Amino acid sequence: MYNTPEQKNRVIIAGGGAAGCFAAITIKEHAPDTQVVLLERSGELLHKVSLSGGGRCNCTNGTFDRNTITKVYPRGAGFLRSVFSRFDNQRTIEWFEDRGVPLKTELDGRVFPVTDSSAAITGLLKKRIRELNIECFLNSGIISVNGKSDRGKLNITTSDGSELSCESLCIATGGTPDSDGIKIARNIGHTIQQQIPSLYSFKTDSPKLSELSGISVKNVKISIPELRTAQQGDLLITHNGISGPAVIRLSSLSAPGIYEKKFDFTCRINWCGDQNIEELYRVLDESRKKCASAQITAQAVIKIPTRLWKYLATEAGAEEKQLWAHLSSRQREMIIQQLTRYSVHICGRDHNKDEFVTCGGVRCSEIDSRTMESTLVPAIYFAGEIIDIDAMTGGYNLQAAWSTGWQAGISIADKLLNRET
Ligand SMILES: Cc1cc2nc3c(=O)[nH]c(=O)nc-3n(C[C@H](O)[C@H](O)[C@H](O)COP(=O)(O)OP(=O)(O)OC[C@H]3O[C@@H](n4cnc5c(N)ncnc54)[C@H](O)[C@@H]3O)c2cc1C
Repeated sequence: MYNTPEQKNRVIIAGGGAAGCFAAITIKEHAPDTQVVLLERSGELLHKVSLSGGGRCNCTNGTFDRNTITKVYPRGAGFLRSVFSRFDNQRTIEWFEDRGVPLKTELDGRVFPVTDSSAAITGLLKKRIRELNIECFLNSGIISVNGKSDRGKLNITTSDGSELSCESLCIATGGTPDSDGIKIARNIGHTIQQQIPSLYSFKTDSPKLSELSGISVKNVKISIPELRTAQQGDLLITHNGISGPAVIRLSSLSAPGIYEKKFDFTCRINWCGDQNIEELYRVLDESRKKCASAQITAQAVIKIPTRLWKYLATEAGAEEKQLWAHLSSRQREMIIQQLTRYSVHICGRDHNKDEFVTCGGVRCSEIDSRTMESTLVPAIYFAGEIIDIDAMTGGYNLQAAWSTGWQAGISIADKLLNRET
């Protein structure tokens, strides 16, 4: 299968996703005489990139800087601060635009190709792979690595039983738990942080809430009191739970704690976001006076959809046809509680169709952030989601893949070039 003769400087990249392709291209752009072999286990390069951003590829985010990294990378921020000092979101934007893919930044900071199609990104990367003569083998997974032989090389075994040797290996096999890439990392001595899901919606077992499916509420505050985590943003009620940016960000922030609780916990929702509680009391008291002969559940008196208001007021004990004039003090308290401290039992997770990632993976402290080289086994590099790095939605996960892929590629190229001079 691997019928190309081994050349002087052969580098193997395992994994043809965002990180692996970026590493391969970077090596060839800087050290063109290197023989770069890209091994991809599936039948297709860049599969996830093609699906990303709902097919539009949210390839990075234009707004974050080194001071806000910790907010968007719950795990791996310190490590990435170092990597981004050499290749950050601005350099990513330049990289694609310099090579002919114009990008646009949307109001919320997310960056997409102007064509709104991931094919612009995958097309460019595949074109560069061809132009640079990167030797690409599909349906070809790496399954084991032996340390340096007496010839000073790493020996790789692939899924079809072939053996290949190389000067350096970059493992960019993604975040799948217990994948061959993870097994290899573990076998060579790396610690693997438990791999668990991140970026998902929550399932509830509340049929009444599900009846409100489709309702979207702006700027809610949602928290998991037991884990002391909270997020603020838009929330969507779905047919079997809750979703939307606030929920998905909360799943990322709380991923290890939620996993420990086996996805069984209670969320508290303040549907009124920033509105202060005195203001809510004032609005209810005013409604009692001014709308005395109107039904409580007929119309929302605060800024939430009327269907949701009706549900919350009913949960608070208001009768279907009860008039504002008959609102008791106890009911007023209960409505405030439903509005600001609504409790919902979460009984599982739902995949978010746009994006989900794995948190956990190869421990950052065992990788040199200046080079992406293993601190345990020289000449083995890591890039992308296999590392214990993950982010909120917004283009940050692909950014981590580009940056770590670039860093691995440039370090491998520099090492080979320095050895030659
Ligand atoms: C549906 C979806 C949408 C997303 N949308 C976005 C988005 O819009 N913006 C964003 O920032 N992030 C998004 N993400 C997350 C982002 O795609 C990933 O974080 C990123 O692709 C990780 O890149 P990677 O190269 O590390 O891993 P991957 O993309 O997973 O690539 C790893 C590759 O390695 C291959 N492989 C596995 N094992 C082996 C082996 N033993 N040997 C050889 N090859 C192997 C796999 O087949 C795969 O092709 C999305 C994720 C999903 C699932």
